[in-house]
Amino acid sequence: MNRDWVDKDFYQILGISNSATAEEIKRAYRKLAQKFHPDANPGDGAAEEKFKQISEAYGVLSDAEQRKEYDELRRLVESGAFRNYGGQGGRGFGGGGQRVRVEDLSDIFGGFGDIFGFGGARGRAGPQKGRDTTADLNISFDDAIGGLITSVELRGEAPCSRCGGSGAEPGSAIDICPTCGGDGVVAQNQGVFSFSQPCPQCGGSGRLITQPCSQCRGRGTEVRTRTIKVRIPAGIKDGATVRLAGKGAPGANGGPPGDLLVKVHVSSHPLFKRKGDDLHITVPISYTEATLGTTLEVPTLNGKVSIKVPAGTPSGKIFRVKGRGVSGGRRQTGDLYAKVEVVVPAKISREEKRLLEELAAIDDDDLRGHLRTRQETVS
Ligand SMILES: [Zn+2]
Ligand SMILES: [Zn+2]
Repeated sequence: MNRDWVDKDFYQILGISNSATAEEIKRAYRKLAQKFHPDANPGDGAAEEKFKQISEAYGVLSDAEQRKEYDELRRLVESGAFRNYGGQGGRGFGGGGQRVRVEDLSDIFGGFGDIFGFGGARGRAGPQKGRDTTADLNISFDDAIGGLITSVELRGEAPCSRCGGSGAEPGSAIDICPTCGGDGVVAQNQGVFSFSQPCPQCGGSGRLITQPCSQCRGRGTEVRTRTIKVRIPAGIKDGATVRLAGKGAPGANGGPPGDLLVKVHVSSHPLFKRKGDDLHITVPISYTEATLGTTLEVPTLNGKVSIKVPAGTPSGKIFRVKGRGVSGGRRQTGDLYAKVEVVVPAKISREEKRLLEELAAIDDDDLRGHLRTRQETVS
């Protein structure tokens, strides 16, 4: 939980009521983010600040778990129990004269331990992992089969390019916090209780910046476009997600960054359809080939294979070519399924027509013979 929350009204920032649905939150965010996006307001510091506020508010309220924590925190603050801890002057639990009534402690032990750090110098909780972010990537069918190394462009919060995320002006000193000795936590004793809590002076980072970075004003992050290398494993399926650890949003107070989840969209192939690791292809053959039998040359992902089509093969029959499907990593290779489909020519020559009519005469007799046999069987 972030101690900044106590001073912020995320609902007001997004212009919604605190009973807003997830859909309403998303809609409000989209509208405001479009209006205040740095790309739409180049050089406008106020818009950028507003965009950051909107992003932060949405980050918390769009996450059901975080929203619940935030709502609970606000309820506690509004009830007055923590009045002293939200202000700037408080020194945390036991330091400011006001005390939490003992019966309130059950709530606090239920996950609000860091509330006692309110009023710290930077107003932040201890190290926090950054949020996971997502990106979409479109790749070709062949690249999905063979794998590739590519990159995605990502716009959003990133470690500041000037200070590398430390928040300190390059070349300036970063002191070890004297209050906690660099641990980021201090022990507070109150009667029989002893709490370990984020250090109020350094906010849990264990460090004190002597000169804030001129680019990010000590935040350690900035909104910018990053190009991130992505390795797509061979044989990846459409809709699969590749997780890049540590490539998400930066963490706070020395916390690790979140992960980047790249959703992969694979385009379709003009010949092959993919089902798992198997490939399916439809091969046209003529009536005479199907009737007399033939050997077909069928394309695969690597070269052609020959398929022996026996005489009297019906249209729609499927032939399996083992091991000519998709292979990836240590998995077994899939198979290729070739379906033959008898095509009826739209146009034929006079000679062909003559021969077919001759054939039809024989077929007619043959067919009538079959019908007769069948009728006799029925009656
Ligand atoms: Zn910076
Ligand atoms: Zn400290």
